[in-house]
Amino acid sequence: MGDQAPGDLETLRAFVNTLELETGSDELSSPEALRKWLEEHGLWRGTSASSAELHAARRLREALRDLLLENNGVGARTEAALALSDAAERGRLGLRFDSPGGVRLEAAAAGVDGALGRLVAIAAAAMTDGTWRRLKACRAERCGWAFYDHARNHSRLWCSMAVCGNRTKARSYRRRHA
Ligand SMILES: [Zn+2]
Repeated sequence: MGDQAPGDLETLRAFVNTLELETGSDELSSPEALRKWLEEHGLWRGTSASSAELHAARRLREALRDLLLENNGVGARTEAALALSDAAERGRLGLRFDSPGGVRLEAAAAGVDGALGRLVAIAAAAMTDGTWRRLKACRAERCGWAFYDHARNHSRLWCSMAVCGNRTKARSYRRRHA
């Protein structure tokens, strides 16, 4: 179980964790790296991404992290909510109704906008089914690692009690996240 979120929410968690704030190591280091990541996670099949799209992806990533910090009791993040609304609009998210009585959000936009819209749809679904509040970003300064709080009383604050909980910046930190 560990830090993993249920279902599609795990994809969103992985997206937030493509940047390790502590070390500055970023999996989305180039438009090509973004294209590959989105493909590997089943969000998009495209031939190339632009640097503007990379910028948009990174912006959404930090907005999501801010919301996960909010889930961890750190501040209110109206700007982050606006960034999600913006990504939803650019992804052209719309309701798709299925018979009988099912509904989901679908991104109609092509390209990276559509892929980012899919991530926003995952967030929206989690907000509806109640799993969202358990997805948190670590409170430790310069950490912000996303984890799913499996604790019964939703009380977990840190990605790792041994490292961030004690605010020790151990060398094992990176390995822990690998
Ligand atoms: Zn941490």
